[in-house]
Amino acid sequence: MASKLDTEVSAILLGHEVEGIAQTILSYGVDNIYLIDHPSLCEFNDERYANAIIELVNRYRPDIFLLGATVRGRSLAPRIASALNTGLTADCTQLDIDPEKKILLQTRPAFGGDLMATIICPECRPQMATVRPGVFEVSKYEGKMAGKIIKPEITIFDSKIEILQYIQDTTESFDISEVDIIVAAGRGLGEKKNLKLVEELASMIGGQVGASRAIVEAGWIDRSHQIGQSGNTVSPKLYIACGISGAIQHMVGLKSPGIIIAINKDINAPIMKAANYAFVGDAVEILTMIINEIKKRGVISRYK
Ligand code: FAD
Repeated sequence: MASKLDTEVSAILLGHEVEGIAQTILSYGVDNIYLIDHPSLCEFNDERYANAIIELVNRYRPDIFLLGATVRGRSLAPRIASALNTGLTADCTQLDIDPEKKILLQTRPAFGGDLMATIICPECRPQMATVRPGVFEVSKYEGKMAGKIIKPEITIFDSKIEILQYIQDTTESFDISEVDIIVAAGRGLGEKKNLKLVEELASMIGGQVGASRAIVEAGWIDRSHQIGQSGNTVSPKLYIACGISGAIQHMVGLKSPGIIIAINKDINAPIMKAANYAFVGDAVEILTMIINEIKKRGVISRYK
């Protein structure tokens, strides 16, 4: 996008003793890093971080300012946008530059995911958006560092937020966004116990289990497995959808998948349009057949 605008890419890095991270970021082709290294930024504090960013944005006046739609990004972005009196498009799944007007085209699912809306911010600056993790490919690690590290002086404000204690999250932590092979389950599996087949196939071919929201809401599986608009964005090389209809809210979570194989009893299910290969029939029967066939032949995944 920066090359379409004939401009530079800059990053902001806040923290304490993080100069090493700045070097790594430069290796990905960033032109400038604004590094604020201060002991009071050691721990994430959205009030203090937002104030630091607002000061930097007011000083350097970027045309576009993007944040990840992560827990921290989602907390910072609205604070920053409201202080700067500009717009913010949250959770974008696609970004581009309008070739004529040279403005940011911010695309995200709207109306419950039934359509993709492209939002613009023609007057206020910066144009701000958060972007879902996993939506864009990570740029190539170059290793060479042509960009510069800039260390601006800024005011570190007091914060009304005090961190009293950290409590370790002991719930299952699982990141499906980087997985290459996903065998995903939907309501068409009929019952929770049939998930075992999906788990078995996934483990045989070196994959992980994905899920539609329907089965997450039914309590069959943890939300960390959910793929789609209100779940995770994934870009696997192989996606096997078992008993999943392929609703738009599910499909927006599949970013440039390699091969899609659908197993569904309904040949007209929306997933069939996206699938490269399809099995039409009962998911439990077909999964059992595939698993038995792999066992018989001793096939090992080519994707491993
Ligand atoms: P269903 O829609 O019930 O589809 C089941 C499929 O299984 C059907 O195609 C059926 O033909 C097939 N089937 C039935 N029996 C069998 C059988 N015996 N063998 C083989 N196939 C069979 N959904 C998501 O997945 N992820 C999201 O992040 C998400 N976010 C949402 C956000 C919003 C704001 C809204 C409004 C909805 C969201 N949804 C999301 C829900 C989405 O609209 C669908 O309701 C959901 O994806 C349906 O899940 P499913 O395909 O498992 O179930």
